[in-house]
Amino acid sequence: MQAEIIAIGDEILIGQTVDTNSTFIASQLSALGVKIIQKKVVSDQAIAIVSALDAIDAATNLVFITGGLGPTKDDITKETLNDYFGGTLEYHPQVFEHITSLFKTFGKVPNASNKQQAYLPSVCQPIMNEMGTACGMHFTKGEVHYFSLPGVPYETQHLVADKIVPWINANLKAGTVVHKMLITQGVSESELAETMEEWENALPAYLHLAYLPSPGIVKLRLSSYDGVPADRTVEIAQQFEQLKNILGDVVFGGKGDALPEVVGELLIKQKATLSIAESCTGGCISHLLTSVAGSSAYFLGSAVTYANAVKTELLKVRSESIAKEGVVSKKVAEEMALGAQAKFKSTYAIATTGVAGPSGGTKEKPVGTVWIATAGPDGVRAKKYLFGKNRERNIQKAALMALDLLRKDLQNFKN
Ligand code: ATP
Repeated sequence: MQAEIIAIGDEILIGQTVDTNSTFIASQLSALGVKIIQKKVVSDQAIAIVSALDAIDAATNLVFITGGLGPTKDDITKETLNDYFGGTLEYHPQVFEHITSLFKTFGKVPNASNKQQAYLPSVCQPIMNEMGTACGMHFTKGEVHYFSLPGVPYETQHLVADKIVPWINANLKAGTVVHKMLITQGVSESELAETMEEWENALPAYLHLAYLPSPGIVKLRLSSYDGVPADRTVEIAQQFEQLKNILGDVVFGGKGDALPEVVGELLIKQKATLSIAESCTGGCISHLLTSVAGSSAYFLGSAVTYANAVKTELLKVRSESIAKEGVVSKKVAEEMALGAQAKFKSTYAIATTGVAGPSGGTKEKPVGTVWIATAGPDGVRAKKYLFGKNRERNIQKAALMALDLLRKDLQNFKN
């Protein structure tokens, strides 16, 4: 099966909105084994939409169109598709009932333009949208299925995940594409490539490897585009098992895993709690942790201790340690972690102290120098990192490295 995505909207073209709908649709389709051959962004003009539809590849059987289904004049997708597929607009009372009940929850009544949203092309199958007023639409032309979806991301996500994916599963032949991911932390792309060179060279030609780097993290994706998907899934899993043995504990997860979630699961497994003392990361680690739903089960709290006086007062870091070793040092990082552990009465604690930049570096401690400490039942340890010159990336990398250091402690902890 082959798919294409057309995102409609001037706001995407001018860079005001990031096209997350296409990303979501593509990831859902990839999980079904569907090959996505093209994504296109077009303006809110009938001529642009029609020319994108005319340009669909002959082998494509699924077309996803998002945006322009609202009640305002600039929303022209419905009328354009109605003309394109040759129908008339028909009133759907059950759609209007749904719109009316949605408005009722806000204490409002729909106006004339809202009522217009209950008129749908006679040649489409409506896809009821419980999350909003714009109904999704399913058109069929020969073997090709066209799905028109609202622009609002959570509405599109609802219709794709809850309505269209189940429909594809029930009505169309499964796809043959398989993608699997392995996620690594703390080593660069080139270091990884060197370590896994022999494994990579021995991969069969039908398995394709991709390196996908982002700050601190490299995702490794293996893809297969033909063959029996179940067999290829098993084969990729075996290949990744071999690779995990080669790479060791730099591997922290698979597709969809995020480091804060992996750390959270490990803490829950140990019935352990966590606190944090952040200096150069300024709350970034706490933000990453609390972005995970349910993190209150293990995350107790954090102290952003930027000034030396706050480090000494709140975390009981010794003034002599700061005076003797400097605030960016192993000693201070360790004392911060122990201080947070004691203050919050947590099983584990993480601390960061460093020079995020762009100024403040010295010859001994250049911009990008960060000490990260972890304290736990086995004691305290600290590690020095040298990141780059960019403040934003240094903060991001230090936060991820800190979580990764804790992950390794948690995985190595023996009861
Ligand atoms: P509405 O009923 O709100 O008018 P709509 O179907 O007409 O929905 P648009 O008006 O095109 O959709 O967009 C609604 C909102 O969704 C806007 O904030 C827009 O920026 C956002 N949006 C539109 N397309 C996308 C997309 N491809 N990815 C992410 N956000 C999008």
